Amino acid sequence: MVELTGKRALVTGASRGIGAAIAKDLAAKGADVAITYERSADRAAEVVRAIAAKGRRGVAIQADSADPAALKSAVNEAAAKLGGLDILVNNAGIGRVGPITELSLADIDALLNINVRAVVLASQAAIPHLGQGGRIISIGSTLAERVPFAGSTVYAMTKSALHAFTRGLSRELGPQGVTVNLVQPGSIDTDMNPASGEQADQLRALTALGRYGKPEEIAAVVAFLASPAAGLITGTMITADAGFSA
Ligand code: NDP
Repeated sequence: MVELTGKRALVTGASRGIGAAIAKDLAAKGADVAITYERSADRAAEVVRAIAAKGRRGVAIQADSADPAALKSAVNEAAAKLGGLDILVNNAGIGRVGPITELSLADIDALLNINVRAVVLASQAAIPHLGQGGRIISIGSTLAERVPFAGSTVYAMTKSALHAFTRGLSRELGPQGVTVNLVQPGSIDTDMNPASGEQADQLRALTALGRYGKPEEIAAVVAFLASPAAGLITGTMITADAGFSA
């Protein structure tokens, strides 16, 4: 049984999809949870209500992960409002797909800024708040392991950058008892990658289980890594992808 009573968590990009499921699951297991979002204020408020319904404190903070000052201030606001921080989940991410010759400079910058730079900056901002038993968990992608189709080159590259980041940071934070890990989802049914989308059958066919995952199935992995039971796990990747990379 995963137990997070009294823990304080920040989940970036948690108004919808995987982030929302993570925030709700952490709260269900006893944590107070702050979330960030970019545009979906109503959806973020719904997540905060769901957290409150579980008897936990919920806080929603509008902060574009591409904006370094906003992101840093969101981390500090989360820690101030929750009375500290034990768990950072770097979940916010975007997908921009298509032939590399058609990706604009703006697309490439957005992918790098949100999927990579924001993970570095949010972690930097969170470190002073994290004590013994602290957790940094980032959401990568199984596409960092294998890219079995065209059109996701730069997205996959941004997620593979999180391998070295996770390994390196685990070495830096180990002495203070903070673990750093990466969860790599396969196709998960969200707005980013709907199970009814055009590419969905092709993606399903590449899995061993023949199916998409649900956001809650990624949340369960994150909650485990956040828990004391996972205290020996650091600097590593857990892939939850229905066997996509098998
Ligand atoms: P969704 O597009 O469904 O949701 C994205 C969430 O991130 C929303 O809450 C959105 O906020 C927020 N967000 C997006 N851009 C920003 C930004 N610039 N600043 C702050 N928040 C932002 O995505 P998923 O839930 O599917 O994906 C979550 C993570 O999982 C991402 O890192 C993604 O790369 C990864 N992933 C997803 C897979 C999938 O198949 N779904 C597979 C592998 C990895 P708002 O509502 O305000 O726009």
